[in-house]
Amino acid sequence: MTADPAAERPGPGPVDGSGSGSAVCVLAPNPSPMTLDGTNTWVIAGPGSSSAIVVDPGPADEGHLRRVSALATRAGRRVHQILLTHGHADHSAGARRLAELTAAPVRAADPAHRLDGDGLGPGDVVTGAGREIRVIATPGHSADSVCFLIPADGILLTGDTVLGRGTTVIADDGHLGDYLASLDRLRALADSAGLTALLPGHGPVLPDPAGTLDYYIGHRRDRLAEVTEALAAGDRTPAEIVARVYADVDRSLWPFAEWSVRAQLEYLDEHGGLPPDVRK
Ligand SMILES: [Zn+2]
Repeated sequence: MTADPAAERPGPGPVDGSGSGSAVCVLAPNPSPMTLDGTNTWVIAGPGSSSAIVVDPGPADEGHLRRVSALATRAGRRVHQILLTHGHADHSAGARRLAELTAAPVRAADPAHRLDGDGLGPGDVVTGAGREIRVIATPGHSADSVCFLIPADGILLTGDTVLGRGTTVIADDGHLGDYLASLDRLRALADSAGLTALLPGHGPVLPDPAGTLDYYIGHRRDRLAEVTEALAAGDRTPAEIVARVYADVDRSLWPFAEWSVRAQLEYLDEHGGLPPDVRK
């Protein structure tokens, strides 16, 4: 669960088989308004490497996991590790089965999602697949979200922190203040690491990391301004605010929009911007 349905932008070309540097996407067959084209499973293998690393197995779909396994083990490679950007089911539910198929450990920031594997913390460096992969802590979409930087390719795997189209939602285990700080950290990284592409957990590869992150940061600022205006106009509940701010969005998506609004009310509350009679 990921996309902010109110911020959907049309996207370019096919996702399955896309990639950049040493990473190739295997698209899972779970499309929806919240998962866009489906979940992107990334297979990482440098040229001539004897092993591969899989990021986000995706849903527990046997056909998808077999495709992932087949690509990862092509040319006699073995799967060295399976990494999770975060624990949401559309990224992690297939991890146990993929671990069975490949005999690889599963590493995740959240101990609940590890299988015979270590944790993933800020500053950790994962080696394998002919690449060095750096773990960047990016809490916000969820508390356990991380991104993976592959310096040799100038690419960043962003999970649900940045999506290939539209913008992400703050899930009920996320936090907007953390998310804004994470976006600022990634924006700085886009320059310092010379990023050439963002590889998201849903949607197409993003070829303009700095521009995309500027858009995300601006979008959050705009949304906060809209919620602040709705409060000034007298709205006092998340449902009232959604009905005003998301008026032109299909009503079936309003429950998801309420999560985002709740996260923004919490943020405004932490920063002293909430009238006392608002019901969060
Ligand atoms: Zn998610």
